[in-house]
Amino acid sequence: MSNKVWLVGAGPGDPELLTLKAVRALGEADVVMIDDLVNPIILEHCPQARVIAVGKRGGCRSTPQDFIQRLMLRYARQGKCVVRLKGGDPCIFGRGTEEYNWLLAHGITAEIVNGITAGLAGATNCAIPLTLRGVARGVSLVTAHTQDGSSLNWQGLADSGTTLVVYMGVAKLADIRQQLIDAGMRAEMPVAMIENASLPEQREQRSTLTKLLDDAREFKLKSPAILIIGEVVSESAAQLDRLTA
Ligand code: SAH
Repeated sequence: MSNKVWLVGAGPGDPELLTLKAVRALGEADVVMIDDLVNPIILEHCPQARVIAVGKRGGCRSTPQDFIQRLMLRYARQGKCVVRLKGGDPCIFGRGTEEYNWLLAHGITAEIVNGITAGLAGATNCAIPLTLRGVARGVSLVTAHTQDGSSLNWQGLADSGTTLVVYMGVAKLADIRQQLIDAGMRAEMPVAMIENASLPEQREQRSTLTKLLDDAREFKLKSPAILIIGEVVSESAAQLDRLTA
């Protein structure tokens, strides 16, 4: 009887990027509820558990949030140890805290376990430093996708001097490009598109703000993908050129 819910970040896809704590929680689980962006290979760490798929991909058949939460609650109240596996980090565009607070409010012990978020994994895998001395003093993780149709502060982002990492942006490329150009970002600003970060199917394409739409079309960019927008994208390649010149 462990009566606990672990909200676990499964990382970006590469099973070796799981944390030891995630592996421990999986090993203790009676029930594992798995999102669709999670690599099912990691279920090898919980052969004893009952596995329930509770995907919520945009536009596809989806499991309502309310149903997922009630299911976690039901199993926890039965005395089961529940692991809720989420892609990347549970608290980066992942509703981790929302579920955590809801469980606590219902008297259930919960714990959140970090995962490596897709944006950081993709950048590092492609040797793009999201922060770089003299080039970028910070990073903004943003989503172009909103439920209420509200807009990001593109002007603020364009002026921030930070690298932008865009999640859920594949269907919004035209809007992202236009908003940043309208906000005064230079048209030649380098962009990296990284699809399936950290998985064997990972693909990467470098482009610029101006050419983003054409390059994405030619590359046949598909979700899940992140965009990295900023000088750091070309700076790492330039550094290598200088070193090998
Ligand atoms: N909690 C997750 C993000 C969920 S939102 C995390 O921390 O990574 C879903 C979005 O994440 C996708 O639309 C895509 O933009 C991004 N994403 C998730 N996995 C990815 C992967 N392996 N490669 C590239 N992008 C990914």
